[in-house]
Amino acid sequence: MLLLARTRAFTFKCAPSSYLGFSTKTHMDAKPRTLLRSPFSSSASRSPPREAHMNEPGNGFISLQEWQGWGTKSPVPAMVTEIVEELQSMENDIDAKMSFGGIGGKLQGYFKVQEDKKHRATYQALGDSEKKFQFFAARQIACRLLGSRGYLCQKCWLPLEDCMCSRLIPCSLWPGMRFWLYMHPKDFLRQNNTGKVLWQVFGIEAVTLCLFGIAEHEEMMWNTFKRAGKNNVWCLYPNKSAVTKSVQEAFGQESSADQKCTQLMTDGDKTLNFILIDGTWSNSNAMFGRLKEQAKSIWGEEDLPCISLATGASAMHKLRPQPSWDRTCTAAAAVGLLSELQLLPEFSSYGLDKQAEAVEDGLVALLEALTARRLRMGRSITRKSRHSSDIC
Ligand SMILES: [Zn+2]
Repeated sequence: MLLLARTRAFTFKCAPSSYLGFSTKTHMDAKPRTLLRSPFSSSASRSPPREAHMNEPGNGFISLQEWQGWGTKSPVPAMVTEIVEELQSMENDIDAKMSFGGIGGKLQGYFKVQEDKKHRATYQALGDSEKKFQFFAARQIACRLLGSRGYLCQKCWLPLEDCMCSRLIPCSLWPGMRFWLYMHPKDFLRQNNTGKVLWQVFGIEAVTLCLFGIAEHEEMMWNTFKRAGKNNVWCLYPNKSAVTKSVQEAFGQESSADQKCTQLMTDGDKTLNFILIDGTWSNSNAMFGRLKEQAKSIWGEEDLPCISLATGASAMHKLRPQPSWDRTCTAAAAVGLLSELQLLPEFSSYGLDKQAEAVEDGLVALLEALTARRLRMGRSITRKSRHSSDIC
């Protein structure tokens, strides 16, 4: 009974909707009942306000080292740099310090009010919608960077006192595949984000962060996709209007891709690229839409090849009996994919099952770290177990 209740609560909360085929329809059609922030987020929003560490010499900008420390290999996005500089000069202009609170660093207080006016004006002045969109993304990233400075561990995105890095065991992903974590700026530096676990385990070469709306990141990703060719790019997204294939259909014996796959694996040059959409239920549609647009501009076709994960025992039996996790979480979707590929004879010798397990272990470590934090902050365990499903 309890399990059932938990599972139900989970399926309505976690996003992007669901990677599981069976629940897709109901979820996509039904209005999501709960898109509230998880208790982990709200716990963080109750943490005391922090001033940005801006005043020490040289701290008024984001260095390459600092930027890359958060889990990316890209240069510092130009627009993020610009916005950070503007925020800094605003401090001088209005003689007020930036103050951040809550998860990922939201501006607070007098500075927030002033900055709000200013950024709205900047936004209005921007002519085309693409620029507006990029500004919106970069501003969010800039605020998160400044607000998390000296507060979050750069690797695990948890408050320093809750760092879980020592609990993670790195593992090599089969070199024939690569994950792209297409992340919404609102999920960047979010403590309960699970996507970050993927590159913590597999490294940033195998799992590459691509921030939605950050030109430098999107260019990098699409340049790779151009080189890889459309046949080697797959999106894990259960969209009802998209043509989705099961793992078996896409990569199994009978698939038309099979021959190509075999060829690819032997020449070792080409890699299968999998995009994981890492955003809330409500944001993921927009993210998928942008991917389709970009696919069209490159390949002239709007249908970005999509994979939906199977339901049922065949894939589920490999997972530990933790209904609250399932595979709707971003990292868990990767676990699902690895587990399903493992079942195909042509993929069975790459140790994908072990790699899936390594991610699961990472997820368990994250859950434990978040739970320990809740307990330390004086929240009840009952609440924790009831809401443990909220991680996504
Ligand atoms: Zn850490």
